[in-house]
Amino acid sequence: MSHIVIAGGGFAGVWAAAAAARVRGDAGPRITVIAPSEEMVLRPRLYETDPERAVVPLRRVLDPIGVRHLRAAVDEIDVEAQVVRAGEAEVGYDRLVLAAGSRLARPELPGARRLFDVDTIAGARRLAAHLKGRGGFTAVVVGAGFTGLEIATELAGRGRVVLVEQAEVIGPDLGPAPRPAIEAALDDLGIERRLRTTLTAVEDDAAVLSDGTRIATDTVVWAAGLRASPLTAQIPGRRDALGRLEVDARLRVTDPVQAVFAAGDVATVRSDAGHRVVQSCQHATPMGKTAGHNAAADLLGLPPIDFDPAPYVTDLDLGAAGALYTRGWEREVAHTGAQAKEIKRWIMERIHPPVNADRLLALAGQVNLPVPF
Ligand SMILES: Cc1cc2nc3c(=O)[nH]c(=O)nc-3n(C[C@H](O)[C@H](O)[C@H](O)COP(=O)(O)OP(=O)(O)OC[C@H]3O[C@@H](n4cnc5c(N)ncnc54)[C@H](O)[C@@H]3O)c2cc1C
Repeated sequence: MSHIVIAGGGFAGVWAAAAAARVRGDAGPRITVIAPSEEMVLRPRLYETDPERAVVPLRRVLDPIGVRHLRAAVDEIDVEAQVVRAGEAEVGYDRLVLAAGSRLARPELPGARRLFDVDTIAGARRLAAHLKGRGGFTAVVVGAGFTGLEIATELAGRGRVVLVEQAEVIGPDLGPAPRPAIEAALDDLGIERRLRTTLTAVEDDAAVLSDGTRIATDTVVWAAGLRASPLTAQIPGRRDALGRLEVDARLRVTDPVQAVFAAGDVATVRSDAGHRVVQSCQHATPMGKTAGHNAAADLLGLPPIDFDPAPYVTDLDLGAAGALYTRGWEREVAHTGAQAKEIKRWIMERIHPPVNADRLLALAGQVNLPVPF
């Protein structure tokens, strides 16, 4: 029997598994997800005070749809032999879906090991334990993109927060449209900003900034930049500056053509006429569905589908200042405050994959699922 192997158990990996299971029906290829943890981690929730809400046991999602989980990390991909090596295991594949995600780009600076992050469940648990029961602390958050803004505004109700950004503006990649609303929220929450500044060292009791300032703190959170899994370097093909593999509209690595699909934060594909996907669960989910569908369809001689995501939206949590919901690539503000926060809550519930097999398989067949706001 042929074999679809999916490397990664995040949004892209789980939805690829569900979509492949839907296409194969009762017979067809075996499907194995290889991922190092028993847990699917919903990374967009890791900035929340209780990181345990961001965890879903993988077996609850995969067992009901007959997908095997091999608990291991893929170390090596041999595209010639169509084999992946994961610890002691050597697993052959007929189609591989690479869905190993991304990781925070960590800086090399003195004291970097003291940095906190909300990139992984281990990082979020460490930060939660460090701050448990404490109030009135000072936290320095480095990076004022999506993640930095969400953790800074979440912490603001509990202590003094200093947001450090090397660019000239807050949210440099978010564009000008949402900036006034973000600035207003930061003002409301009393978050201090240090622009055109970066972190140069972390001491036991201080953050040292590039302008020479020392801020007394034992809590420095690094939130600056994601990079694709280093596994992408083992697949022949073109990669972008984030290390993401270029794939075609069917999410296949085609240069050169091989039995490999890539989805989620490891891959880059056109999202619509003028834009490529961003590293987000919003794109990782439909990418996973498309890649899983096509991996199974390819083996079964069924028609493939093209990647066709719903229109781009964002919803930035701003802590006690509510949230900010935008539409389109210019990120035009559509909702703010409590209304945007309600939508954020709705989205954070919906990103949990259903543990009911019928519901999961039905959703796996709907690639283009817009947020109805
Ligand atoms: C704090 C935070 C907030 C965010 N907020 C948002 C948001 O509001 N909206 C949004 O759309 N996106 C948001 N994102 C981004 C989003 O979480 C990612 O883009 C998304 O998780 C990508 O999904 P993925 O499946 O590609 O990768 P991941 O979710 O990173 O999953 C990768 C999987 O691969 C596994 N893996 C890693 N290495 C290996 C290996 N060697 N072998 C096998 N398996 C491996 C991992 O264990 C994991 O199971 C946020 C991210 C963070 C950190």
